[in-house]
Amino acid sequence: MKARVFPAIAALLVLAACSTPDSPTSPAPSDPSYSQNPNDEIQNDPKVHVHLARGHARPGGGGAKLLQYHGGAIMTSTAVQAIFWGQAWSSSSFVGDKITGLATFYGKVGGSNYMKTNTEYTGTNGTVGSGVAYGGSTTDNSAAPTGSPKVSDILAEVCKVIAKPESNGYYPVYVDTPRGHAGYCAWHSYGTCGGTPVQIAFFFNLDDDFGCDPESPSSTGHSQGLAALANVSGHELSEAVTDPRNGGWWDASGAENADKCAWTYGGLVSFGGTSWKIQGNWSNQAYANKSGYDGAGCISG
Ligand SMILES: [Zn+2]
Repeated sequence: MKARVFPAIAALLVLAACSTPDSPTSPAPSDPSYSQNPNDEIQNDPKVHVHLARGHARPGGGGAKLLQYHGGAIMTSTAVQAIFWGQAWSSSSFVGDKITGLATFYGKVGGSNYMKTNTEYTGTNGTVGSGVAYGGSTTDNSAAPTGSPKVSDILAEVCKVIAKPESNGYYPVYVDTPRGHAGYCAWHSYGTCGGTPVQIAFFFNLDDDFGCDPESPSSTGHSQGLAALANVSGHELSEAVTDPRNGGWWDASGAENADKCAWTYGGLVSFGGTSWKIQGNWSNQAYANKSGYDGAGCISG
């Protein structure tokens, strides 16, 4: 969701979203700790696009339908390096299958039918590409911020850890701290490291966090914590390639392509011999044909 439009609709959204389940198979988060804070600095930052937690998201983007182009660049290919930040990333019990699983996710997602759900969109520099080159990860065992870090915190970490940032680089930062009272699971944004433009994203630790859990079936073989991170990782990656620096694609309500299909699924997504429960992305073309899995514009490849 585009944070710039958020203040105007925040109060209404909080009331509407928090009382309405967005999944017919699961209870809505009724815990008041899921309350959204309309004064949240992240959610009001126009450079940040947050992935709202379940019960806060608005599949379909409210009344707005088509994604619209905003005159800037998209990502024709993407180079990913992940950062695992926090002391718990030195604990094998905390890490579990997360680092290896996300390496598989980023290592195999390029060229997949899932990634191709982004490729109908164009920008000043061409057409969104499905290519993803995974350059591995770095673990930083210094203490990660508690609470909700600012964009400047995460950008500083990226610039500190990534030796040679690339202009088509996308740098997801996974912290070991839980979401707490934040109404979102993750976000993406952008900045520069030493003059090089970079795309960045932030992810809370989602272990045992129902509000950010896709409820992936055990058949996928992933731990709950990994499956939850993979779902939101697909969301942020898709939004980063279609709207990397605020000049890409979002609808009249401020929703980007993954926001419009948040917490909805077209079945398991498979690539590289692995399966994941990853939410779909909005396609203007599918919407025109009513061919999405939702009978509208959501597709998952
Ligand atoms: Zn989003």
